[in-house]
Amino acid sequence: MKIWLNGGLRDADGARVSVFDHGLTVGDGVFETLKADHGRAFALTRHLERLTASARGLGLPDPDLDEVRRGCAAVLDANPMALGRLRITYTGGVSPLGSDRGESGTTLVIALAETHRRPDTTAAVTVPWTRNERGALSGLKSTSYGENVVALARARELGASEALFANTVGALCEGTGSNVFVVLDGELHTPPLTSGCLAGITRALTVTWAGAKETDLPLDALERADEIFLTSTLRDVQAVTRIDRRQLADGPGPVTAEAMRIFDAHAAADFDPR
Ligand code: PLP
Repeated sequence: MKIWLNGGLRDADGARVSVFDHGLTVGDGVFETLKADHGRAFALTRHLERLTASARGLGLPDPDLDEVRRGCAAVLDANPMALGRLRITYTGGVSPLGSDRGESGTTLVIALAETHRRPDTTAAVTVPWTRNERGALSGLKSTSYGENVVALARARELGASEALFANTVGALCEGTGSNVFVVLDGELHTPPLTSGCLAGITRALTVTWAGAKETDLPLDALERADEIFLTSTLRDVQAVTRIDRRQLADGPGPVTAEAMRIFDAHAAADFDPR
């Protein structure tokens, strides 16, 4: 397996990042996960825009997007596979313990792992912890993912693949690695970015292509929803057929099935054309 590290392609086994990297010691970093289909990255430009926005939000220097593009292409070419998860990690670089960030630049790692297409349906649970929509990291794709790790572990214990958060005022927000959509009285809604959710790329495409409304929703909208689905770059549009103890349906409902169809039809055009 070849990865990209700070300017060049390396063997993953031999590649070294400092034990004093600020990303490792304090989670001072940002990242992107992209889907790669036969070596072509999905929505690369949108992911690079979000990487830059996240870096700026953390006060990191803008990533060199020419290098990131070159690195993605090199990693994809060096590791041929049908469906891959391409991960770009960009951190504040090496800082001796107790010092501030950035004594020696930044760290860029681009790696690829084989993955599989997610099932069309899944189960989700709500968790008692909240997303802080007014927090310093709100809306940034930072590497400080500990809260998501804890919530996802809870979901797995309960036989689900995703955990959904409310925010501090009790409004529906997002999952640990996905955005959420609900169908209420035949209309498709998703929480607005002010709820504190990540500006998911699949979410934005689904809002545009499937015509969803961005609406503040209480968490208990999940109890009333006729249909629920999740979006993320690796899930695409995925129907939730069980939420907590409530069974919705055996398969995707009509609005979800239509959103899946529309997404698949449009998505082909958004792969990096290399
Ligand atoms: N929300 C969170 C917290 C995420 O980590 C992710 C993706 O990893 C998403 C939402 C979905 O975003 P995207 O559609 O860009 O994958």
